[in-house]
Amino acid sequence: MSNPFDLSGKAALVTGGNGGIGLAMARALAQAGAALAVAGRDAAKNAAAARELDAVSLSFDLADPEACRAMVDEAARRLGRLDILVNNAGTNIRKAPQDYSLAEWRAVLDTNLTAAFIASQAAYPHMTRAGRGKIVNIGSMMSLFGASFAAPYGASKGGVVQLTKSLAAAWAKDHIQVNAVLPGWIDTALTRRARTEVDGLHERVLARTPAGRWGTPEDLGGIAVFLASAASDFVTGTAIAVDGGYSSLA
Ligand code: NDP
Repeated sequence: MSNPFDLSGKAALVTGGNGGIGLAMARALAQAGAALAVAGRDAAKNAAAARELDAVSLSFDLADPEACRAMVDEAARRLGRLDILVNNAGTNIRKAPQDYSLAEWRAVLDTNLTAAFIASQAAYPHMTRAGRGKIVNIGSMMSLFGASFAAPYGASKGGVVQLTKSLAAAWAKDHIQVNAVLPGWIDTALTRRARTEVDGLHERVLARTPAGRWGTPEDLGGIAVFLASAASDFVTGTAIAVDGGYSSLA
C-alpha cells in the first residue's frame, strides 16, 4: 500500500517559510518528499532557508497584492507545478483598539488575510491544471478568542477561518482541500516580541496551556504534512487547533 503521507513529486509554496512556524512546516514537507519554495521579505533569511531545504527562494512583500500573485506564479514556474500552498506569513501590531491608525489596521489585514486570499486565487489555476491541490491557512487562537491588545490581528485571523470555509466549499469540486491550522502559543520571533510587549503573557500562557509548555515550531510539522497529503483528502473547511489543549479550557 502506498504511504498516504508521501509528498514525493509534489511542489509546495510556504509563505513566511524562512523562519518560525513556516520554516518548521517547510522542513516537514521537504522531509515528506515535497519540492519547496519559501517566500518572505528578508532575502538573507530566504536564502538561508533555501540553502537548507534545497528550495526556491522568493523575496516578496505580501502586503502588496500584485507581489502576492507574482510570488505564486514564480513558485509554480520555478518548481514546474504547484500542488500545496501554505498561507503562513503573518504579522501583528499590538496596542489598544482606540490607538490604531488606519494604516496599521490595513498593514495587518493585508498581510494576514488579503494575502492569503490573493495567493489562493493565484494558486487556483495551477492546482486545477494538476487536477487537485491543498491549501493550508494559518489562523491563531485569536481566530477563536478576542485579545484586548490585538484587534486587527484577531479580525484577520477570524477572517482566515471564514475564508477557509468559503474556499473549501467552492473548490471541493476541483479536488482542492482548504483547511486552517490554529496554533496555540508557539515560541517564535513573533511571540518573543509579544512577551516583551504584554505584561505577564509568558506566565499566563503556561498557566492556561494543559500541556504545561509553550509550543515549538516543530509541533506544527505533523499537521502540515497531514493537510498537504492524500491522508487528508476527505478533510476540508476545518480549523484544527494545535495548541497543547489551550482552546479546550473555558
Ligand atoms: P515569525 O515572525 O517567526 O514569522 C513570520 C513570517 O512571515 C516570516 O517568515 C516573515 O518573513 C513572514 N512575513 C511577515 N510579513 C510578511 C510580508 N509582508 N511579506 C512576506 N512575508 C512576510 O512568526 P511565526 O512563525 O510565529 O508566525 C507564523 C504564522 O503563524 C503567522 O501567520 C502567525 O500569525 C501565526 N501564528 C503564530 C503563533 C505563535 O504563537 N507564534 C500563534 C498563532 C498563529 P520576513 O520577515 O522575511 O518578511
